[in-house]
Amino acid sequence: MLPNSQEARDVAYQLHPYTNARTHQQAGPLVIERGEGPYVFDASGKRYFEAMAGLWSVGLGFNERRLVEAAHKQMLALPFYHTFSAKSHGPSIDLAEKLVALAPVPMSKVFFTNSGSEANDTVLKLIAYRSNALGQPQRKKVISRMRAYHGVTIASASLTGLPNNHRSFDLPLPNILHTGSPHFYKDGAPGETEEAFATRRAEELDALIQKEGPDTIAAFFGEPVMGAGGVIVPPATYWDKIQAVLNKYDILLVADEVICGFGRTGKMFGCETYGIKPDVLVVSKQITSSYFPFSAIIMNDRMFEPIADESNKIGVLGHGFTAGGHPVGSAVALENLKIIEERGLVAHAAELGAYMQGRLRELTSHPLVGEVRGVGMIAAIELVLDKGRKTAAATPGAVGGIASRMLQERGVISRNMLDAIAICPPLIVTKAQIDDLVAAISGVLNDMKAEVAK
Ligand code: PLP
Repeated sequence: MLPNSQEARDVAYQLHPYTNARTHQQAGPLVIERGEGPYVFDASGKRYFEAMAGLWSVGLGFNERRLVEAAHKQMLALPFYHTFSAKSHGPSIDLAEKLVALAPVPMSKVFFTNSGSEANDTVLKLIAYRSNALGQPQRKKVISRMRAYHGVTIASASLTGLPNNHRSFDLPLPNILHTGSPHFYKDGAPGETEEAFATRRAEELDALIQKEGPDTIAAFFGEPVMGAGGVIVPPATYWDKIQAVLNKYDILLVADEVICGFGRTGKMFGCETYGIKPDVLVVSKQITSSYFPFSAIIMNDRMFEPIADESNKIGVLGHGFTAGGHPVGSAVALENLKIIEERGLVAHAAELGAYMQGRLRELTSHPLVGEVRGVGMIAAIELVLDKGRKTAAATPGAVGGIASRMLQERGVISRNMLDAIAICPPLIVTKAQIDDLVAAISGVLNDMKAEVAK
């Protein structure tokens, strides 16, 4: 690191999320300067294929002018207005209408927020408000899953089911419970079929609800495909079985589509891919291709009506964010959705996604690959040192960390979720770019094999 370089100044002045602060001070950051399609470039001009679409989010790639122009136009017309009390503005109205129309199941209302965490936090508050409005104050518990990622605010981090997000923060909050994840590769018992595993997970959920008392459980939260927990694709019948349990006890279902929404799984929503019928949909990230911080909660009447019922006598909905439904963010989201539709990017994600899944599965025979999993344009390569025992190094994440560092040296930005390498490229990728990506991963796996053999 040169003195006074961007890297040195970064180390001097920034505390980064998801770093070990001291290790970061030695290594310094990769400073990105500009973007073009699915690529980003550092200050030296080195090009990187962004195999994570930033943070699972830049669907349209890194230089979509139409999004910039939409933001500019809205900045000139009305750079800010809010939606508190009885105020509104055109872009948020148009976007709310669009999201209700796009939703995969009948929905009626949209509440705007600024990030995935804020949105999930808000859903928890809406659920509490609703239970109070219904005269069921005891019904406040929610169930999430181990390995889930729903954000990092105190409540959304509690929904998250990853030790790093709980440990040292005194979380989860007491009313937030966790049941097992649908990770068949890691959690399936020896000899168990995927179908039997899905049944077991549904039975465990049922048992948890019984233990806690069905009339204390308000909602279940789930990502259609779990992202940050390691790209966990559920067994085919998993969601049907889970929904049957929730219906039995009249429990609301919240689908966190923050990663899956807007084409990622090869359909507009992950809920369509898995036949999920949620009461609430949470969207963010790809809604603006992350060009503007934005999120939204889309809900049905079952969720909305008790909140709207003035006879509940619990007062106004005392919740909302200054920038929620920001006009510039709404305008960018509308343009982003328009481009996704005009260019047929959901169908493109389905077609190229199938190609990508096929090409990545060619790596399964490699001695360091335990499993390749994924759907549409999201995948993970689970690295192992012992295929039979499905284990990597003694320190979880050590092997994955080496792989993602070596990929970065080869000009590919990926992310290791412990020893699973996540792949989630912009939706606009081409076949040739997928071929280059697979060649780079294959090269790294071979280099690693040579390293491990030493
Ligand atoms: N939900 C899911 C499924 C996510 O993947 C994320 C972030 O990765 C979040 C919620 C939190 O979003 P944010 O980082 O915008 O708060």
